[in-house]
Amino acid sequence: MKRREEMTFWERLYVIEITKGVIQTSSDLIKHLVQFLLQVVGLNKTAKPWATFEYPDEARPYAPRYRGRHRLTLNEEGSVRCTACFLCATACPADCIYIEAEEHDSGEVEKFPNRYEIDTLLCVYCGYCVEACPVDAIRMDTGIHPEIYPPDPRAFIEDKETLMKRSRILEDEGPEALFKRHMARIRSIEKNPYLAGY
Ligand code: SF4
Ligand code: SF4
Repeated sequence: MKRREEMTFWERLYVIEITKGVIQTSSDLIKHLVQFLLQVVGLNKTAKPWATFEYPDEARPYAPRYRGRHRLTLNEEGSVRCTACFLCATACPADCIYIEAEEHDSGEVEKFPNRYEIDTLLCVYCGYCVEACPVDAIRMDTGIHPEIYPPDPRAFIEDKETLMKRSRILEDEGPEALFKRHMARIRSIEKNPYLAGY
């Protein structure tokens, strides 16, 4: 973009530019006010009368490609698919994935994560962990934005069981159920942030 270095004589007077700004703002205000009033009395049905959403009672739909809350995917028998290769933790720019690996009993898989944690307060939701995983063991396709926890930083660390449970709910009950649980949790935290269970 080429920046204009010099102002014209009329621009340097400012009065004209300020007047133009006031006219523009006032005309936008009047235009939107008229649109709102027409919608309220039912003469304009193209949209709802206000642009805001009553969150959390009303949620704006996310784009299908939205990358939200993490989950650890499961094998057919319900066990964690992760093989504790540490590629996600290595790729993570926020250094917020903690894994403790353990040897697997089966001869097919060498290791599994005895402990797998994501500190969601540090996470920047870049999706690099998902990209790095060679076995599709971690996804961010839950369609829900990051979880809200009570005001204690420790509560924001999501462990293996939490991340696996999300996959179970998604598989057994669908994305709507996951979203409903999320909303119920928000409401309970709103009512009593310090007593809500983690
Ligand atoms: S989304 Fe990005 S910051 Fe968050 S855990 Fe994955 S790699 Fe790390
Ligand atoms: S989630 Fe994927 S990348 Fe991360 S440790 Fe497990 S298998 Fe490796």
